[in-house]
Amino acid sequence: MHSSNDQTASSRPLANLIDGEWVSSGELFQNINPSDLSDKIGDYALADADQAHQAIAAANRAFPAWASTTPQQRADILDAAGTTILARKEELGRLLAREEGKTLPEAIGEVVRAGQIFKFFAGEALRIAGEKLASVRPDVEIEIRREPVGVIGLITPWNFPIAIPAWKIAPALAYGNCVILKPAELVPGCAWELARILVDAGLPPGVFSLLMGHGRVLGEVLTSSPGVHAISFTGSVATGRRVAAKAVETGKKIQLEMGGKNPLVVLDDADLKIAVEAAANGAFFSTGQRCTASSRLIVTEGIHDRFVAALVERMKGLTVDHALKPGTAIGPVVSQEQLDQDLRYLRIGQEEGARLVTGGERLSRETEGYFLSPALFTETTASMRINREEIFGPVASVIRAKDYDEALALANDTEFGLAAGICTTSLKLASHFKRHAQAGMVMVNLPTAGVDYHVPFGGRKASSYGPREQGRHAVEFYTTIKTAYQFSG
Ligand code: ADP
Repeated sequence: MHSSNDQTASSRPLANLIDGEWVSSGELFQNINPSDLSDKIGDYALADADQAHQAIAAANRAFPAWASTTPQQRADILDAAGTTILARKEELGRLLAREEGKTLPEAIGEVVRAGQIFKFFAGEALRIAGEKLASVRPDVEIEIRREPVGVIGLITPWNFPIAIPAWKIAPALAYGNCVILKPAELVPGCAWELARILVDAGLPPGVFSLLMGHGRVLGEVLTSSPGVHAISFTGSVATGRRVAAKAVETGKKIQLEMGGKNPLVVLDDADLKIAVEAAANGAFFSTGQRCTASSRLIVTEGIHDRFVAALVERMKGLTVDHALKPGTAIGPVVSQEQLDQDLRYLRIGQEEGARLVTGGERLSRETEGYFLSPALFTETTASMRINREEIFGPVASVIRAKDYDEALALANDTEFGLAAGICTTSLKLASHFKRHAQAGMVMVNLPTAGVDYHVPFGGRKASSYGPREQGRHAVEFYTTIKTAYQFSG
């Protein structure tokens, strides 16, 4: 076992952070670029269950002192981390594009968002507020205070390798919690850089630990250990449900962000250009690998054929290539496993009778990578598996609706409820849709994906469980309420 305090990006392998020490175990795993399988980004140390227990013990030791720091101390550390992330946006963006496969501009945008999130929660650390009320009894006063929850386990997916860890870590630390981050296996690079940035920003040992490796080993320890007091998870529905069931056994607070099957409704009166842009962006940018992606395009009769023709045209103009290449609009699919899943659903759609009007082809490029052309199905029905199950790739389907009422019913005919969009020039129907779409986030004349960093994010139904993430509402999950009574008669 190797342990040191001066781990740098140039030394290999990159280690886990446990109790303020960089620790590498015997086993390593490789981080590979999905745009170019010959590009090995680095070797990373696989944390094991014992190390997970060590990180949990260290976090519990660090918690009392960290919970008693002043808001200014926490604000300064978060602000410093945000400043570093923003200053290094190009370099971190390149790393993100290399390990996850979204295009460089998208990756830099994600890094900027992560920096802004740290800055936002630096401010929030200073604004932790409570309430003071008179008691129903004489000479008694009541205070309602917010206190940190304790040690929080964060389990994150591969599709936003820096923004999702950031939007969980920043509020957790701002409100005085200790954190253990378990990033997805495919994207340890951004998580490791984030860990180093937090150490350099001055976080005391144990307050933040990084455990890279397998969910079924590390995730299981985090979700079952009584030393972890809350779990915030983003990932698949199946894993989320498992995490929740385990976490409840030890009474943890739980927050889950899972899948989506987000509808974008396009009405006859829509501005065609806006609708096509919203659909192309929402369905295919970031290779369709966003839980907010518009995978169901619900289009009314009068505009259907014009919309499909214009969207197909737009899709043909989207260059699929290496994520770092200038001019690339869509990078590769993240992994062989995800590519297999996308191809499987493309087959399923055709077997179900949907018409594949464009795309869905495996593409070869200068470098060997998981390139897939964006695919569009038409003549689909709500009951088809391609309209019910999350594919998580550059695949969308068009469902024909006779009018707004049917479109709204179709939009809500899903077990998911993360985001929903509508393209219309009718103020009345836009307002009606905002009110009646069964989703946590509703967009009018905008893609379903692409959200601001300072407002709540989250969904309903099978998409989410527990309080919202981001913005001021993050306080609900990352603090616990204390009601204090005082007699002063
Ligand atoms: P994705 O399709 O995004 O990989 P997963 O739900 O499989 O979705 O993974 C999301 C996160 O959950 C990853 O960090 C993964 O390692 C972790 N994970 C996987 N299995 C488990 C488990 N049994 N318990 C806890 N976390 C897990």
